Amino acid sequence: MKPKIIKTQAKEIFTKTKLPGADWVINQYVGCGHNCSYCYARFIGRWKGYGEWGSWIEAKINAPELVKGKLVKGRVFMSSVSDAYQPIEKELGLTRKVLENMDKNTDLSILTKSDLVLRDIDILKQFKSVDVGFTINSFSGKEKEIFEPDSPTSEERIKAMKMLKESGIKTYAFVSPTIPGLIDLNKVIDQTKDYADYYWFEVLNLRGAGKEFSDILEKEYPESYKIMGDRDLFTEFLSDLKSVIQKYGVKTKGIEIH
Ligand code: SF4
Repeated sequence: MKPKIIKTQAKEIFTKTKLPGADWVINQYVGCGHNCSYCYARFIGRWKGYGEWGSWIEAKINAPELVKGKLVKGRVFMSSVSDAYQPIEKELGLTRKVLENMDKNTDLSILTKSDLVLRDIDILKQFKSVDVGFTINSFSGKEKEIFEPDSPTSEERIKAMKMLKESGIKTYAFVSPTIPGLIDLNKVIDQTKDYADYYWFEVLNLRGAGKEFSDILEKEYPESYKIMGDRDLFTEFLSDLKSVIQKYGVKTKGIEIH
């Protein structure tokens, strides 16, 4: 089902953040048509009152005007409660307009699950400091269907990462959500190590993903659920994770554990 688009006018577009590695966030969209079942931003749907996550998207249509002539100090992360390259972007071009108007001295970091970002290579190249990250995990088949039903496949994301890298744009792999038993870290690193300038690992935040997701995980993947809730098993899982990262010796921004 196509999400309902709610066009709004925002007062501000850069918001201060405590997210790791960022000073500001920019969300020209709120809500996301990628509709990941573990999305940590789902909670927003409850107080927005627009309906189920994935069924609506707020588009701040004056965002391109709001960024004009404004240079914030520090790193800007795009985006925290949406994906700047979710499907509706193809139609609206809001992210593209924001990038066009943004001061090219902005220290920008984009995270996406979509190869649509390739459309904007021409503008991204104008930024003095920009990196583009792709959420990479080895989900396919049933897991992809359950966890990330409406976003491009891992292969499409890796291909896009390769193309960006070849265009001279700095890239990173956001390996997330790392779920015990459901992520093949060797495969993920093998597939991306030639195209990712650095890695950022994130272990599933079960509480952040919400009760509904927790129930799905318990029902569909009881072994993974058990490890997430057992201190010893979880410690073992983390230790295995760290050994794989060490084995490859890839450059990493860190492992986020909640
Ligand atoms: S792509 Fe990101 S913002 Fe969009 S639903 Fe998935 S996790 Fe949430």
